[in-house]
Amino acid sequence: MDDTRLVVNCGSSSLKLALFDAQDRLITSALAERLNSCNVRATISGKDSPVALPSEASHTQALEALIDEFRALGLMPSAPSAIGHRVVHGGETFRHSALIDDAVREAIDACSGLAPLHNPVNLTGIDATRAMFPRVPQVAVFDTAFHQTLPRKAFHYAVPEYWYRDWGVRRYGFHGTSHKYMAQEAARRLGQPQSNTSIISCHLGNGCSITAIRNGISVDTSMGLTPLEGLVMGTRSGDVDPGLFDYLATKGLSAKRVNKALNSESGLLGISGQTNDMRTLCDLADNGHEASNLAIDIFCFRLAKYIGGMMTSLSRLDALVFTGGIGENSPRIRQMTLENLTILGFSIDHEANKNHGRQADGRVDEKNSRFPVLVIPTNEELVIAREAARFAHAPDPA
Ligand code: ADP
Repeated sequence: MDDTRLVVNCGSSSLKLALFDAQDRLITSALAERLNSCNVRATISGKDSPVALPSEASHTQALEALIDEFRALGLMPSAPSAIGHRVVHGGETFRHSALIDDAVREAIDACSGLAPLHNPVNLTGIDATRAMFPRVPQVAVFDTAFHQTLPRKAFHYAVPEYWYRDWGVRRYGFHGTSHKYMAQEAARRLGQPQSNTSIISCHLGNGCSITAIRNGISVDTSMGLTPLEGLVMGTRSGDVDPGLFDYLATKGLSAKRVNKALNSESGLLGISGQTNDMRTLCDLADNGHEASNLAIDIFCFRLAKYIGGMMTSLSRLDALVFTGGIGENSPRIRQMTLENLTILGFSIDHEANKNHGRQADGRVDEKNSRFPVLVIPTNEELVIAREAARFAHAPDPA
């Protein structure tokens, strides 16, 4: 059997596909954006797709059209050997990836209450590819699963116990696929076994989270019940005083309105009043825009505070790792963050930092730094493809 694996990532209005060969090489990728609107756009390997998707195309229609196109371009055999799906929330049910059958599908659906914007649309993708490829193993890979190893003291909020017991209110954590990849890659680059490697992993993209990984296992993370908690993000506030809900009610803002503002109108966008995009923000700051400068300052200060906090979960730190669009590409953010941490003994090599890490190992720390600092490009699709491969020769699910 051809060992091509398909990775499916259904977001609220987008669909991302990636195809990997047996050697874990990316064959091609595709993106459909603004689905269910009149401005649908599709690209294959970054170029406009030769197939025009109909206006208002759904996730299912986009999936079928792009897979047909992969086949027409000779990029994919008639069926892949396995399909990996990104699923946002696995609750406490899923500690690992899972081969999808009717029971697993139902259990993913049961977690929808915890991720109402994500799990239902993830299931749309699962249903569509199960209908198209009923004999191909399909695997769900959860953003939350890697964090199911958190000890109780790290996942339990200081709230009434029955909120957790009856309603599942606890820290779940997200970006697990990326943090897991950091654990693997950091260990590989440091030349030591993952099971004996402890790192702090900073995933800094539009969403941002930080995870303490002790001996390869997630032991604390900054995102919580939802992906709103923790670091400052593009449009999300991260930590705020929950007392602001009541205070803002006296100003006429409902809890729903405040929640929306904290998710979509806050973070870098809220502080700068200009943009959620870090690159643009840096340009604005360079041109003297004070509010953008402040947004960058707050972003780095909060991150540094969390790095310090994450150390309490580790007995040793083998590396601090930066990843995600900002973590991989912004020397300025890495430098400003570490400047807030000189008391802990971090010291940066400016030349290596400018180059996003030394060629051999991605390190940006100076010789006298107390801890190694690594820049590692994330590759969530590859992790999902590898998980799918583990099931590729599993028994026929049909
Ligand atoms: P997502 O979380 O949507 O996958 P990414 O991981 O691609 O997002 O990260 C997007 C962020 O990375 C944006 O804020 C973007 O401005 C930032 N970014 C990308 N390149 C740079 C750069 N050279 N300098 C600063 N920020 C950058």
